[in-house]
Amino acid sequence: MKCFCSVLKTQEGIIMTVRAIRGATTVNENSRKDILSSTRELLVQIKEQNNIKEDDIISIFFSLTDDLNAEFPAAAARELGWLEVALMCTKEIEIPGSLEKCIRVMVHINTNKQNFELNHVYLKNAKSLRPDIVKRNGTKKADGADMINIAIDGPAGAGKSTIAKILSKKLGVIYLDTGAMYRAVALKALRENLDTRDSKALEKMMRDINIKIEFENGEQKILLDGKNVSGKIRTKEVTIGSSNVAVVPAVRLKMVEIQRQIASEKSVVMDGRDIGSHVLPHADFKFFLNASLGERARRRYEEQIGKGMPGIIYEEVLKDIEYRDKNDSSRDYAPLVKAEDAIEIDTTNMGIDQVANKILDMVKEKNV
Ligand code: C5P
Repeated sequence: MKCFCSVLKTQEGIIMTVRAIRGATTVNENSRKDILSSTRELLVQIKEQNNIKEDDIISIFFSLTDDLNAEFPAAAARELGWLEVALMCTKEIEIPGSLEKCIRVMVHINTNKQNFELNHVYLKNAKSLRPDIVKRNGTKKADGADMINIAIDGPAGAGKSTIAKILSKKLGVIYLDTGAMYRAVALKALRENLDTRDSKALEKMMRDINIKIEFENGEQKILLDGKNVSGKIRTKEVTIGSSNVAVVPAVRLKMVEIQRQIASEKSVVMDGRDIGSHVLPHADFKFFLNASLGERARRRYEEQIGKGMPGIIYEEVLKDIEYRDKNDSSRDYAPLVKAEDAIEIDTTNMGIDQVANKILDMVKEKNV
């Protein structure tokens, strides 16, 4: 159903908002063929880069510079079979010296994404209109070096943190373990004797929680209300609690804000569940690590035995992982999903070095 209202709740309770995506392209000559093919290319890119279903497109405005009149660009949308979408063509304001032979579009959609998650698309000579969007890879840090953000997502035990630590060392960038942040929230809830599934109580608690991340010699320290709790967040209770609190939007909103702030200031390898799909949708690299449930449980079991943790039973570790997988994948807000453009690696039968080298090769190849 198309809806022009600004907020809409679907039957599943998901909030959909009306948002607009911008795009532009240019043509070589004022011909019907050029206008249709360039517009088609632009619309397809907008649809694909934003993962839009036709039914979610409300309307599209097209504008043409004065030098183009061989065809209505809206005809390209009809050629794509978008028969139900409201379309409108108009003339662009003629500003002396502005880009020639340019087709601009504004696509209104119903979406559950936030504004920063949308991809505006500028092709051909129209790239010059929004260099800030087009040249994301060239972003500089304060010291003038190129910024790089790498997102690593996947379920518990897939190897994310081990690999992220190696990448961070080899690439000389910080490693942000976002799971530690949800763990710190759970720790606070447990200390306050709250039920970690009680979203109302958590919402209240989040109003005055103070979570800070500091880095010392590349090591992350997590500060909860001013105290370093890095050594207190790996217990079984906190682990299960973190999975519960992570379902609550008020918790996620606060964590995501801190994560984005860090990524905007520093090059970072960030691991979690929603980094590529939600926190850093424009990350330079996105990887989704996975492994069989049995292998992931085996890894966690051995890790905990290795740390000398008492009372560790394999079957219980497996049950906990299953519980967290379900919680993470089924929550409404920012669930564990592979971002469309993430590279998936099944690490079940791979060694740590093998996975790390595979990723490093890809990063170096694209980033030199
Ligand atoms: O990665 P780790 O196991 O430390 O994460 C603890 C919990 O935090 C996970 O079970 C998951 O529910 C949650 N989490 C999340 N989103 C992230 C990172 C972790 O929901 N980006």
